[in-house]
Amino acid sequence: MQKNMSLSALLQILFLCPFSTLTAAFNNEDPTLRTMEDFSGYPIHESHSFISNTLSSPLYADAQNLQNQIDELSRLSDTPAPSVTRVLYTEKDVLARRYIKNLMGLSGLSVREDAVGNIFGRWEGDEPELAAVATGSHTDAIPYSGKYDGVVGVLGAIEAINVLKRSGFKPKRSLEVILFTSEEPTRFGISCLGSRLLAGSEALAKALKTTFDGQNISFFDAARSAGYANDQDDLSSVFLKKGTYSAFVELHIEQGPILEDEGISIGIVTAIAAPASIKVEFEGNGGHAGAVLMPNRNDAGLAGAELALAVERHVLESGSIDSVGTVGILELHPGAINSIPSRSHLEIDTRDINEERRNIIIEKIHQSASAIAKKRQVKLTEFKIINQDPPALSEKSIIKAMEEASKELNLSHKFMISRAYHDSLFMARVSPMGMIFIPCYKGYSHKPEEFSSMDAMSNGVKVLALTLAKLSLE
Ligand SMILES: [Zn+2]
Repeated sequence: MQKNMSLSALLQILFLCPFSTLTAAFNNEDPTLRTMEDFSGYPIHESHSFISNTLSSPLYADAQNLQNQIDELSRLSDTPAPSVTRVLYTEKDVLARRYIKNLMGLSGLSVREDAVGNIFGRWEGDEPELAAVATGSHTDAIPYSGKYDGVVGVLGAIEAINVLKRSGFKPKRSLEVILFTSEEPTRFGISCLGSRLLAGSEALAKALKTTFDGQNISFFDAARSAGYANDQDDLSSVFLKKGTYSAFVELHIEQGPILEDEGISIGIVTAIAAPASIKVEFEGNGGHAGAVLMPNRNDAGLAGAELALAVERHVLESGSIDSVGTVGILELHPGAINSIPSRSHLEIDTRDINEERRNIIIEKIHQSASAIAKKRQVKLTEFKIINQDPPALSEKSIIKAMEEASKELNLSHKFMISRAYHDSLFMARVSPMGMIFIPCYKGYSHKPEEFSSMDAMSNGVKVLALTLAKLSLE
């Protein structure tokens, strides 16, 4: 049977041929099977489309081996098991990187790293001059978190490559597995550091020159201690050229309970909601809680409290279930029971999959902050938008590939929105993007109880492998 038949030719066959011809076309090397199928009237194997046409053997993911690797990686932690703590450029992070590079090598990938330590493992395709298809995630872990977040998308991606190699698949476009540097903001307060730079963020490249961690270690000193950014302060070499990748697909645990609750194997992400975060500060005169009478007060604490309620109101006014807003920090100064707060500090997170709607909410919050300051005669000393990222939509052709892959593997699936954000959000700026979710126990994430079953991971790895295979031939 001809290998690497083009996808469109394949689909034509699927749509144009009557069923018996179709089965015969795919199984003409095995007359017994054909007879059995003609007799029974339905296919004997799970699928007779892409898999049987392009691959010499069925897809098999070695979930036990993947689990062993996840367990091994989880031991590279600065806190005791079952928690995992692996922070950017620490010794454990460096060891984890070495572990991943080693596995990439064992899978026959050629490994390279950029100046901030994004790691790329490449399987050269038959037409290496074409834009490659990429997949990957992160292996850093916030303090006292679990072992699956991010890791499933890196080790699972390497396993997806193994799956394809075992199946006899030959990619046309090269396939690349990426380990992204510092998806978590733990050390320098910047999330998705590696992928933001890959997406060409000049602002971040500049800001990193003056960025320090809590111990006053500069970003560049930390990077150098891990063997990166050696003789350069210029990070523009990290920026990806547009068109480097024809597609990027990330495999990730859902970090929410929907798939598990509904008993669904695969989540096909259609959009990633993007957050904006805002810092606000009000200042009043403060004073003694007994001595200053109510008409004479300008209580900065109450201004903060009023703004917190306004955030909730503005979000609800949007009328969309996809709009959310949270005042996660509300600090009062000096914080004594008998002192009128002279200062309040708020940090506000607001997200939506609709950028315009989210920006309207931010604008209303700003207007409210000014109005409240005026009414309460406090000063609005800070209203700073820390970040205001656009949301990302998955590429239609990648959604289709993920959906077809799920169907061919007979896996239940549903379309969903990622409300947490990921490296995919930033890769979407330089590449068509898609994301695959798998269920995790009770939706737990960022804590030691985080868990995804071997079955769930095996399903995710196979859908990823098949999706990559399809995209590689496009
Ligand atoms: Zn993650």
